[in-house]
Amino acid sequence: MNSIDAPKRPPLLTLSGVAKTYGSGTLALRDVDAEIRQGDFVSLVGPSGCGKSTLLRIIAGLIAPTAGGIRWATPDGARPADIGFVFQDATLMPWASVLDNVHLPLKLRGVARDKARPQLMDALDRVGLADFAGAFPRELSGGMKMRVSLARALVTAPPVLLMDEPFAALDEFTREKLDDDLLELWRSQRWTVIFVTHSIYESVYLSERVLVMGARPGRVLDAVAIDASHPRGPAFRRSHGYVDQCATVSAALREGALP
Ligand code: ADP
Repeated sequence: MNSIDAPKRPPLLTLSGVAKTYGSGTLALRDVDAEIRQGDFVSLVGPSGCGKSTLLRIIAGLIAPTAGGIRWATPDGARPADIGFVFQDATLMPWASVLDNVHLPLKLRGVARDKARPQLMDALDRVGLADFAGAFPRELSGGMKMRVSLARALVTAPPVLLMDEPFAALDEFTREKLDDDLLELWRSQRWTVIFVTHSIYESVYLSERVLVMGARPGRVLDAVAIDASHPRGPAFRRSHGYVDQCATVSAALREGALP
């Protein structure tokens, strides 16, 4: 598949004039217009405080915009019932095994562990942790904990996965490995991924499109299409195309930071 295909995909959601003012009076977002297409891998990149997490939480339905809205291109126009969310902190239950942590979303839906076991093992297998089902979070590295968090988000097979700086706390080697694994999962599962990062390099490596955001007030400055085929890998990271596209995103960010 090539990113050239991306514009042909049908829309999944359209943000129109989205604004958010918190109760404290902080204007976190203003006039955000953007379209996310089905099967897209879109990154939101921008400086700390530009409203990336706020926008992600609005898309998730965790908070409401104060102006504007989201139109979902679902048959009933409603937000899909099942949206996966992965945070920077793996947020695992320390007293529960890996299997029980991944079981949580299904348990909340009333599916007993024994019945869910094939699904749980499949999710763990997909993130490379099938041998760690009985382990506890304290026995795992930071990267493995994040894989558990990813498996927990995948276990209900959500069509949309929202990720808020999921790998930011990991060392660079682990982060690159997880980036590669995430891209492989995305290619095989065909979900829509919306990925928040403040790393230009990570955004270009992963995405079909990068939405560049600026601060004060938070808004989308530019949408940069990343024209690179898959699978991506070390050769892509070293290519002129990659460096050039990182420079394009960087320039858009700098332009947005100008007074
Ligand atoms: P980013 O994810 O880009 O770092 P955020 O969306 O977290 O940005 O924050 C955008 C702005 O909104 C910041 O100025 C932040 O301090 C403010 N903000 C975020 N969450 C809240 C909240 N719950 N209450 C008040 N202000 C908030």
